[in-house]
Amino acid sequence: MNRYACRACGQSAGNLVLDLGEQPACDYFPASGDPGPDPVYPLQMWLCSSCGLAQLLADPTVPEEPKGTEPAALVAQAADAVARVAQAGLLPARGVVAEYGSPHGGSWLSLLTGRGMVPAADGQRADVVLDCFGLMHAADQHGALAERAARTAPGGVLLLQYHSLSTILRRGQWNALRHGHFAYYSTPALTAMLAEAGFSPVTAWQFDLYGGTVLLAATRDTDGRRQPSQPDAVVGTLLAEEAGVGVRDPSAFAGLQHHVTAHAKALHDWLQAQRSAGSAVVGYGAASRAVALLRQADADRSLLPAVVDASPSKQGLRMPGTDIPVLGPAQLAERRPDAVLLFVPDLMAEVRSSFPEVEAGGGRWVDVETLGS
Ligand SMILES: [Zn+2]
Repeated sequence: MNRYACRACGQSAGNLVLDLGEQPACDYFPASGDPGPDPVYPLQMWLCSSCGLAQLLADPTVPEEPKGTEPAALVAQAADAVARVAQAGLLPARGVVAEYGSPHGGSWLSLLTGRGMVPAADGQRADVVLDCFGLMHAADQHGALAERAARTAPGGVLLLQYHSLSTILRRGQWNALRHGHFAYYSTPALTAMLAEAGFSPVTAWQFDLYGGTVLLAATRDTDGRRQPSQPDAVVGTLLAEEAGVGVRDPSAFAGLQHHVTAHAKALHDWLQAQRSAGSAVVGYGAASRAVALLRQADADRSLLPAVVDASPSKQGLRMPGTDIPVLGPAQLAERRPDAVLLFVPDLMAEVRSSFPEVEAGGGRWVDVETLGS
């Protein structure tokens, strides 16, 4: 095997901390008539001993980034985040903003221009450089962060939002690991990466999205906004808490690996029990994180007859690596399920109000993350 080089710091010392075996590309949904088998690829997380970045070890898949429908929880969080950053005085009136977006969608640009900010021209430096779940999609982490840092005008601020690695560890979210997502940030690791780019965190905000999401604000060390450049108490607390969770400690990931088996078994047993009881079940949310979970749980359409998804682009397709079809929301009224297994817990409030027919018909919504936890 060739020497592996960290995507951020280039060092080769590190540990394999999570191994999901062979998995299909989670963003390529075959047509429902395609019998497969779908090609599978190793899916592994590696933790760098030098800079502490948790990362996708190898990605032989070709990215397909179908934009799903934007969950209401994501839209609400964006508005909340922009309001909080503005409150902190970090959004200058008529300032220039450059956004590095996620291929899955979820732009904040209209919220920022709505506050009088001006979108940057191609390559133009910006007073506010925003990255909301974009950076994780770059195979070259060092290069991608350097580009965002260089794009930040003197005196400007770099805003980075990420699903926190400490959340993944604390909540056993092993299926956050997926092809196409090259990095899983902790605040300590991101702080080390920022230091390489000549930046330091100044403050941060936390959100409930995905069980725990962080928005970190960083400024260039030579700007001298702070003498000396010091993170505030929020950042200090985050750094300490995440270190306590063990975000840089390979042994802290053992529970995550264990949870793979426990969670998959719990899901399999639950589906089997529902079938034995004659209870009609469908899934909801054909999300990437459902792919490895269904596969680990040995779920097929005899156990889970369908996954409902609101995105028209996914209908008529099937879940990668299984024969489970993806169907439209009309199925919720048609099938009158006793239980709807929700693969995207952030959608809970939204789906309960969008599809009252489920509960009106005596059905219930079941958060898949609560099975076996
Ligand atoms: Zn590294």
